[in-house]
Amino acid sequence: MISVAIDGPAGAGKSSLARAAAKELGFIYVDTGALYRTLGLKLIRTNTSVEDILLVEQLLKTTKVEIRFVQDEQHVFLDGEDVTSLIRTPEVSMTASKVSAIPAVRAYLLEMQRSLAKSNNVLMDGRDIGTVVLPNATVKIFLTASVEERAKRRYKELVEKGSNVTFDEVYADIEKRDYADSHREIAPLKPADDSKIVDTTGLSIEESLNLLLKTVNEGIEEK
Ligand code: C5P
Repeated sequence: MISVAIDGPAGAGKSSLARAAAKELGFIYVDTGALYRTLGLKLIRTNTSVEDILLVEQLLKTTKVEIRFVQDEQHVFLDGEDVTSLIRTPEVSMTASKVSAIPAVRAYLLEMQRSLAKSNNVLMDGRDIGTVVLPNATVKIFLTASVEERAKRRYKELVEKGSNVTFDEVYADIEKRDYADSHREIAPLKPADDSKIVDTTGLSIEESLNLLLKTVNEGIEEK
């Protein structure tokens, strides 16, 4: 099986580029952030404070998070309900980022991610795929862009979805999540030693996708 690990900070265009690249390669696209978001939604719905780690651990025991593929598109289910379209709000983003720092949460989601890569050619996107989830991935990519560029992209995406956030809020949110994701003790966001850096600052979506595919294909050929 071939596995492509794509890690990088929030708003680097990872999910849209990774999805398009997976389609091009004929691989299954796994968006692992959606799993942390689904758990974040559970915390919000049950009014569980992310500070109360014991309570979160307790909650995991009665929570079912699943990934299912509907016409090759990943859907996430929370306790049997398809919540795919409910997990893209800034509130869920922030809660997901906080909940992802809890070791029990990462352990809870680890096997699910690994088993997907055992039986499929996958392109998996996240923060710790090359470092923790798939340390033996065929190719590891660290996809990034400047904070300014990422904030612009995320802002545009949210406005198009009808959100009334301001650019400054989006910028601050990305900076805060970058900091939290790269400074947490467990599985911090950082390039794996053997990853290839793909920086999309100043590139169009098409140019970014071409660069990503070129880098992935070179990586596969090297193996
Ligand atoms: O990628 P996305 O923005 O959907 O991820 C939401 C949050 O989930 C991130 O801010 C990050 O804290 C967390 N995450 C993680 N490990 C992953 C994927 C996402 O910690 N593999």
